[in-house]
Amino acid sequence: MIRVNEHFLKLKAGYLFPEIARRVAAFAKTHPNASIIKLGIGDVTEPLPPAVCSAMEQAVREMARPETFRGYGPEQGYEFLRKAIAENDYQARGAQVSPDEIFISDGAKCDTGNLQEIFGLDIKVAVTDPVYPVYVDTNVMAGRTGPADASGRYSGIVYMPCTPENNFVPDLPKEPVDLIYLCYPNNPTGAVATREQLKKWVDYAIEHKAVILFDAAYEAFIQDESIPHSIYEIEGARKVAIESRSFSKTAGFTGVRCAFTVVPEELTAYTADGKPVALKPLWNRRHCTKFNGVSYITQRGAEAVYSPEGRRQIRQIISIYMKNADLMCRSLRRLGYSVYGGQNAPYVWLKTPKGMGSWEFFDLLLEKLHVVGTPGAGFGAAGEGFFRLSAFNHPQKVQEAMDRFASLQI
Ligand SMILES: *Cc1c(COP(=O)(O)O)cnc(C)c1O
Repeated sequence: MIRVNEHFLKLKAGYLFPEIARRVAAFAKTHPNASIIKLGIGDVTEPLPPAVCSAMEQAVREMARPETFRGYGPEQGYEFLRKAIAENDYQARGAQVSPDEIFISDGAKCDTGNLQEIFGLDIKVAVTDPVYPVYVDTNVMAGRTGPADASGRYSGIVYMPCTPENNFVPDLPKEPVDLIYLCYPNNPTGAVATREQLKKWVDYAIEHKAVILFDAAYEAFIQDESIPHSIYEIEGARKVAIESRSFSKTAGFTGVRCAFTVVPEELTAYTADGKPVALKPLWNRRHCTKFNGVSYITQRGAEAVYSPEGRRQIRQIISIYMKNADLMCRSLRRLGYSVYGGQNAPYVWLKTPKGMGSWEFFDLLLEKLHVVGTPGAGFGAAGEGFFRLSAFNHPQKVQEAMDRFASLQI
């Protein structure tokens, strides 16, 4: 008798975004003339930068000719892209990362979800609360947890609350943990981690022989010069941290698909009897066994992100989103909301007024303003009483949404 992986049955099956879609569809059906503004899902709205498109067009033409056609490429990604990443994203910021420590992939979602495979099943996993659900669900699927409780927290996982009191950067855990997922700039809170805060975590990981999985998918949105873009800007991080990044939000690649993960040479985990094992060869083995590389065309497009025109175009696109975020922060503050994030990330995290529940506020905004956001409770128990608004939309739409907020009587 064929049996299922019963760990999958513990999952709170894709609850958040399907539930939002269901409520929006139901509302749209009964209010066919309502013009609904979506500030919910974190997907980009601006098209690909022209420099990226030209590079991809050129690559398509190469693929059309026998002399320049390419079949399977290296699983880890082409050298030209890994070199551009190492130089521009790391060496230019004083972080020491070499091209052969970079693994190109089709997404940071896959990478941050897959990386847990190279660690023991009996390790202790720590996540922030609220959290990007991929980190938790992939550990549930792997069998590292018990069932979820009523608030959606799985037994066996250490949840580290992120609140206004700790500026949405978790305090060090009281119990020892082995694999720590950190995402800064943060989705959903829009918070950033300072050099001092990251140093504290790196020191913790060194002391406890832990590994930090640092998700820097939003680093391109950092405006404040003093905020680190990479965990490798912190001394000692090469010994304890893996970093994932993506072209999705940076360069509008959510539909094109290209990302990368850095696994430094000196990063180790341990066997049960305490022998250190280098993680780079393990991740390389996993990557090459289960993945056959990102298309040549896509990698040429990603390379163009680092060209002078590409950089200029990307800066311009990001500034559109960051102006949206700024407008949302200023408008909502003026209306009396407690607002967080939005300065170095495309997300604005606000406290729901009058102690309303996240979903209650969601329904109110949908019904009264025809504005869709994301209930904070969907990202974890500590997100209850908060609400996420995304800056990924057209400026006129964001302005219109803010005008509607001004009319809201609560
Ligand atoms: C959007 C996002 C990513 C990027 O995912 P891709 O699979 O590269 O599109 C990664 N981490 C977080 C937290 C995100 O919000």
